[in-house]
Amino acid sequence: MKARRENAGPRLAAALKRIIRAIRGHYRHARSNRGHGSRKRSAARLAKARADAIAAAIVDSECTICCEPYPTAHLLRTTTANEVTVCPACVFDDNLWMEAFPQRLAYEIDRLIQKDLAIPAGWTAVAAVLAYAAGPTTCAPLERTEPWAHSLEPAPPARWADPGILWIWLPPANRPAAFTGLGPGASLRAVAAAVEAAHPDLHDRFRSRLEAELGTPFPQDSDLLVKELWPAAIAYAVTFATDKFERRWSRLPAVNLFDFIQERSLADHFAHLRSMLTADRTIHALLTLEFGAQVVATALGWGTDEAT
Ligand SMILES: [Zn+2]
Repeated sequence: MKARRENAGPRLAAALKRIIRAIRGHYRHARSNRGHGSRKRSAARLAKARADAIAAAIVDSECTICCEPYPTAHLLRTTTANEVTVCPACVFDDNLWMEAFPQRLAYEIDRLIQKDLAIPAGWTAVAAVLAYAAGPTTCAPLERTEPWAHSLEPAPPARWADPGILWIWLPPANRPAAFTGLGPGASLRAVAAAVEAAHPDLHDRFRSRLEAELGTPFPQDSDLLVKELWPAAIAYAVTFATDKFERRWSRLPAVNLFDFIQERSLADHFAHLRSMLTADRTIHALLTLEFGAQVVATALGWGTDEAT
């Protein structure tokens, strides 16, 4: 394995340069008024760079909780335990009994976003939960805590204050109609708008789904749907489908988004972020993320949820 890694070094460095060129080119084209053909070529280059990066990543480790195989660099620390690294699906798992450390997790996600084009798409959904839960003042507490405080780039990028600009990788093929016209990825704000435009009844579907689950009518003035977290629920539905597809599924995946977030762990992360979503709102956040994500996945054609 060591020899493989040494040999892979120059290849990965070259791939990284191609990646940076592709992303810069894509952003340039997206901002410019150049023709449709030019933007399409830019998007194709970025999609290829992403696919090449994923193919080049060496799968040499596994998630501590679910044991899914991943490259070591793609597993991150969600608690104070330095040796425990997990995949995006297991960040909020109650089996992780050590104290949550969301500031460090945010830092590690940010490093991956900046440096690794093969980043598992699901990390964006986790980033969205942390950023939306912490609220618009996210950057200030992040800036003051380790490891941001002693980083060479101490100021957290704007995506932590405005998670709508987080980059979402979309499934590379067989797209739902909602994403027609989007490139290989788009901002969370653009993806959420596309999903809502294609399926304007998602909040109603969420309420119906929860009524069926709880066996009672959905309260009129309910906080059960935590609006601040709704884009994060969309991010979970989309990025988990992308992750499954990119890991060599030959057709659109069915996604089960239940039980991937658990209450105690979610509450611990919120408490450390000094989120408004503490105490009884944690359970509302949990319901919004799990049922919301499943309702969105089902609307987009990926769900397995018969009750929706
Ligand atoms: Zn896992």
